[in-house]
Amino acid sequence: MSAPIPSTASATIAEREQAHTSGAYAKRSLVWVRGQGCTVYDEAGRAYLDLTSGQGVALLGHAHPDVAQAVARQAQTLITCAEAFYNDQRAALYERLSALLPPEFGGGRFFLCNSGAEAQEGALKVARLLTGRANIVAAKRGFHGRTLGALGLTWNKDYREPFMGWTPPVRHISYNDLASAEAAIDETVCAVVVEPVQGEGGVYPANPEWLVGLRRLCDERGALLVMDEIQSGLGRCGRWFAYQMADIVPDIITLGKGIAGGLPMGAVIWRAALGTIPAGTHGSTFGGNPLSCAAACAALDALRAADLPAHSARLGAWLLEALRTLKLPTVREVRGLGLIVGLELRDRVTPVLQALQERGVLALPAGKTVLRLLPPLIIQQSELERAVDAIREVLHAVCQ
Ligand SMILES: *Cc1c(COP(=O)(O)O)cnc(C)c1O
Repeated sequence: MSAPIPSTASATIAEREQAHTSGAYAKRSLVWVRGQGCTVYDEAGRAYLDLTSGQGVALLGHAHPDVAQAVARQAQTLITCAEAFYNDQRAALYERLSALLPPEFGGGRFFLCNSGAEAQEGALKVARLLTGRANIVAAKRGFHGRTLGALGLTWNKDYREPFMGWTPPVRHISYNDLASAEAAIDETVCAVVVEPVQGEGGVYPANPEWLVGLRRLCDERGALLVMDEIQSGLGRCGRWFAYQMADIVPDIITLGKGIAGGLPMGAVIWRAALGTIPAGTHGSTFGGNPLSCAAACAALDALRAADLPAHSARLGAWLLEALRTLKLPTVREVRGLGLIVGLELRDRVTPVLQALQERGVLALPAGKTVLRLLPPLIIQQSELERAVDAIREVLHAVCQ
């Protein structure tokens, strides 16, 4: 006998979903039914300022007309084209991505997939294939996804420990600590994988000197430097790639989240001089599908046309300063780069998130005590002013 189907007439949307949800997600009591720009709406039509970008995805906000039009047009033209065949939208996307890369990439090689974790898995396989080495170095507090390979890179033991023995062996070094890297990177290491700004781990930007040191160690010892730009890339941190805060060029870049304007896509990008990987060593049924590629072309064009990396640098600096000037006693530190900003609280962040939601502002946690702001890059200063007011009110109320 199958489980009874809840009556959709009486049950709320949340109840209908809750009856079948995996349990993998800590749910918040809000139903999203529509979005426009930086605002999402619930089923009663109530508006919320979205400082989550739907977990970092909506760089262009919601229902961006260029992305919507590209998706609609491509859906009526060709949705499916496996990588065994060539496709016009995929070729166009490669050229757009290539134009963002520094000359050292020689135009770049690309492997397209469907999520951030999958991009991280791909980067590991590419690094092993291209170097013939098997050891991996990643950073403490790092987050790289939850599939088994990416999970090995991810530091948080709550995510990793239930799957001990199934993940690849990874040496975890201390972030922003060159001595730790010096001890871990040797001639057996294929990849050193870091986020230039740690997102989930609590919003910690790298010291540029540390990135320069990692680059030197990788050069000396023949390891590939992999920048996970899944959250930090494509303008989020005030430049196309956050690693550009330092005078370095990585060997491999991974992208995900907002790359296709909200459609699922991940990308592994590596220096052309490293060569290609042998046929059959990797693959993905949906990788490089024309629908996601068309959306990604539209998204990259829109990011460039509005110069959103520069907008993000400008507004991000304003936001950091505005939050620091509040000098809230409940806040230990305000950190960030561009439009990723973290407020390290003295207490747990969950009640703060709830209180902000009640005031119509949606933000994210990063660990137990960090309030993370990850607004769409199209956000205006007036919207951020509203958010700062709400944060001030909530953090005053919470400390009483
Ligand atoms: C979100 C994220 C991932 C994982 O992406 P998914 O699409 O959720 O698999 C990997 N690395 C970083 C830095 C991320 O922020």
